[in-house]
Amino acid sequence: MEWLLTPGPVQLHPKALEALSRPQLHHRTEPARALFLEARSLLKRAFGTEGEVLVLTGSGTLAMEALAQNLFAPGERVLVPVYGKFSERFYEIALAAGLRAERLDLPYGRVPRPEDVAQRGFQGLLLVHSETSTGALVDLPALARAFKEANPEGLVGADMVTSLLVREVALEAYGVDAAVSGSQKGLMCPPGLGFVALSPRALERLKPRGYYLDLARELKAQREGESAWTPAINLVGAVKAVLEAVMPHLEAHLALKAWQNALLYQVGEALGLRPVPEVKSPAVAAFYLPEGVPYGAVKEAFARRNAVIAGGQGPLKGRIFRLSLMGAYDRYEALGVAALFREALAD
Ligand code: PLP
Repeated sequence: MEWLLTPGPVQLHPKALEALSRPQLHHRTEPARALFLEARSLLKRAFGTEGEVLVLTGSGTLAMEALAQNLFAPGERVLVPVYGKFSERFYEIALAAGLRAERLDLPYGRVPRPEDVAQRGFQGLLLVHSETSTGALVDLPALARAFKEANPEGLVGADMVTSLLVREVALEAYGVDAAVSGSQKGLMCPPGLGFVALSPRALERLKPRGYYLDLARELKAQREGESAWTPAINLVGAVKAVLEAVMPHLEAHLALKAWQNALLYQVGEALGLRPVPEVKSPAVAAFYLPEGVPYGAVKEAFARRNAVIAGGQGPLKGRIFRLSLMGAYDRYEALGVAALFREALAD
């Protein structure tokens, strides 16, 4: 067996594999409609919203673009703190959507403070909850509150790609108006679906545009259990099956994910490795490479043990390595990975 220790795609949940082995459904039939509606209702609970969750066929980046294009009109001013590769991407997407995006640069690995975003004159704030490229977790409720005190009419959009089903999330309770995620991370499904969660406030303020990414059109179709275009219905089946298995035990699942990631940090720090993030997300453990050791050597040491890890991105390329147990691993498998980690670094 290969140990997939990358922060997405991840080890698949057995319920996802089982669902994917079922015969093809046509998406405009009653069983497919029922499946789609159930999946959306479970996703709403997972995101913690009374609003809507739209399922898009595409990856997380597509969902980020859909959020930027439908929540804001061209020319609107949005603040985008940049503290890793994905917050950098959110900034680029905002620019591509014609927004007047203003970046607030922080060193990779750091997280923005409430006072950083308490600036007046913005229609929106875009944040990445769990910055997978550095392993950092931001305090979404505190940041959303500070931004909205300065901009009561403003909207907060959040990337929850590696926080959904990995740690607690809740749109309205966090003051987040719209959020995105994807199928291949905490949901333990294959890549191919992006999700856009819209709070009741975001639903009232939607400014749809585009064609494939016109969320008003999607909303109309998805409320009826369909999607505007042919959906990856097999993946929707996998997502529904995993959520049915996980949601009744969500608290225990999140506790397991937190324990597993803390275990990786425990092992790494005991080996003398320096963590990258100032505040740790439970989705991934990121360490600076030991002095004089190239990333290729660490990667090879894991590969000899049949394990796949991830390196750094952007300015952290060649400087860090990342391990994740976000996938479908139990407590004992995590202990096995901890032993493997210790051995690999001793090579
Ligand atoms: N945002 C975060 C925090 C991510 O970790 C990722 C994927 O690694 C993305 C966005 C982009 O998602 P995708 O690769 O599915 O387009």
